Amino acid sequence: MHEEIKEGSILVLKKGHPCGENKWQITSFGTICKIKCLGCERIVIIDRTDLKKRIKKVIQ
Ligand SMILES: [Zn+2]
Repeated sequence: MHEEIKEGSILVLKKGHPCGENKWQITSFGTICKIKCLGCERIVIIDRTDLKKRIKKVIQ
């Protein structure tokens, strides 16, 4: 259902970061992923299955 995502993909998640931004870039894509908030550049570690459930839109 989702478009393909990979390292470098920019995503909009269902829930934004507390800083107010809602776009994230995948900096590491594996069983465990790292995503970087494009507002404050903070990195969040997230399980890939969880990440896929939270995607609202794939931007690129
Ligand atoms: Zn942020």
